[in-house]
Amino acid sequence: MFDVIIVGAGPAGIFTAYQLLEKGFSGKIAIFEEGKTLEKRSCPKNITKKCVQCKPCCNITAGFAGAGAFSDGKLSLSREVGGDLPDLIGADHAQDLIDYTDKIYLKFGADEHVEGVEDIEKIKEIRRRAIVADLKLVDCPIRHLGTEKAHALYLKLQHYLTDNGVSLFSESLVTDLIIKDNVCKGVVVGDKEYYADITVVATGRRGADWLDQMCRVHKIASESGNVDIGVRVELRNEIMEEVNKALYESKLIGYPKPFFNKVRTFCQNPGGFVAQENYEDNLALVNGHAFKEVKSQNTNLAILCSHHFSTPFNQPILYAQKVGQLLNMLGDGHILVQRLGDIRCGKRTWQKELAMGNVRPTLVDAVAGDITSAMPYRTMISILEFISQVDKIFPGFGGSETLLYAPEIKFYSNRIVMDDKLKTTVENLYCLGDSSGWTRGLMMSSVMGVHLANTLTK
Ligand SMILES: Cc1cc2nc3c(=O)[nH]c(=O)nc-3n(C[C@H](O)[C@H](O)[C@H](O)COP(=O)(O)OP(=O)(O)OC[C@H]3O[C@@H](n4cnc5c(N)ncnc54)[C@H](O)[C@@H]3O)c2cc1C
Repeated sequence: MFDVIIVGAGPAGIFTAYQLLEKGFSGKIAIFEEGKTLEKRSCPKNITKKCVQCKPCCNITAGFAGAGAFSDGKLSLSREVGGDLPDLIGADHAQDLIDYTDKIYLKFGADEHVEGVEDIEKIKEIRRRAIVADLKLVDCPIRHLGTEKAHALYLKLQHYLTDNGVSLFSESLVTDLIIKDNVCKGVVVGDKEYYADITVVATGRRGADWLDQMCRVHKIASESGNVDIGVRVELRNEIMEEVNKALYESKLIGYPKPFFNKVRTFCQNPGGFVAQENYEDNLALVNGHAFKEVKSQNTNLAILCSHHFSTPFNQPILYAQKVGQLLNMLGDGHILVQRLGDIRCGKRTWQKELAMGNVRPTLVDAVAGDITSAMPYRTMISILEFISQVDKIFPGFGGSETLLYAPEIKFYSNRIVMDDKLKTTVENLYCLGDSSGWTRGLMMSSVMGVHLANTLTK
């Protein structure tokens, strides 16, 4: 019997446990995590040079520190970025918690330097060009941990939690929640049941599907949200130098013609590397990250187009999965890559053509092909129009050598219905982080964990 069971050891789960300890909580805390502890997590691709589809789960997205472990570790220090949690708990409170949580990251070794706050004149100039291009530039200071430093920082947190009495059950997949008469009593792992006064589900994007299923089985109220489908763009650092230096990350939002869907840039990695991550049912998605020390000649960033469904179809996760599967099928299970110029000419890209230009793909096992054969028309047109707008801010962005990788999908769907104390409609059950639909980033998911621990110990 535990006092608190946390499902998922990503930033949301970790910071719940951390803050409970910080608040002097003396109850028994257990974390159940499907993946491995941090020291055992490594991606075989570093040796094999291609994804071997680790079983039972991907080492990049599962394990202590969740998707944060191998992430670029960009901590967004503004409440305007990272999800809708501020709508739930109040914008000012969210900002206070970001500032507080940032100090915890600093305590565990984050770099003191903050990007995007120094060259004010240059930022003003970039904003002016964004306005002319009908795009909004969002202000967001960034603390960049870097992939290797993020790993070390979360390892310190892992040791801190276990040294302070938190029971960490790694390689322990939670398959069900024990809910009776609308009260959550614990979780099921394999053939064992574990009971607790409070159960916290923080299963991240990879666990969003499972949580969706739990909502249907146990009648936990949720509402369908958006899903973001798009591409990862890779181009030479020279094209992005100005913004990389001034802001590190350009957070641009637009509503391009003719559909006016929300399209935005996300997760920019100067000198970074494009990466593959694998989800359930072998769904391969593209992502990106950057090391603090080792740099490539390229910058990568995502361009994501938001989709919302209502009636008669309202399953955004399923929709995006189908799109992802189609793109994976065309890439024979790999990430597809295509040159922008080829898309404009209506032709596929051939593997040998990738070696001909200035932009060499950093995801070496991506397969050259035709993204447009699988990407929905509405999504593709919105992305191409958005790229033309960004090209007005950073000339060359829309050049013919620019690489587009797909599928890049962000499953934020099914927002769990909860109040400002994060109470769900099932008693003693709390849902946090990216799987709750309220966050979409390292800082905001960490903040949600801190907020829950604060409310539980009040
Ligand atoms: C390659 C990459 C780069 C990224 N870069 C950035 C970045 O620079 N900045 C940023 O803000 N965000 C970034 N992100 C996103 C960020 O990592 C996530 O938003 C964040 O980790 C979400 O935290 P979380 O705790 O909600 O979920 P996660 O970190 O996904 O953790 C959830 C954990 O739950 C476990 N789990 C799932 N289901 C179960 C189950 N049934 N039983 C037991 N355990 C389960 C998973 O294995 C996982 O470890 C990146 C993501 C990736 C993949």
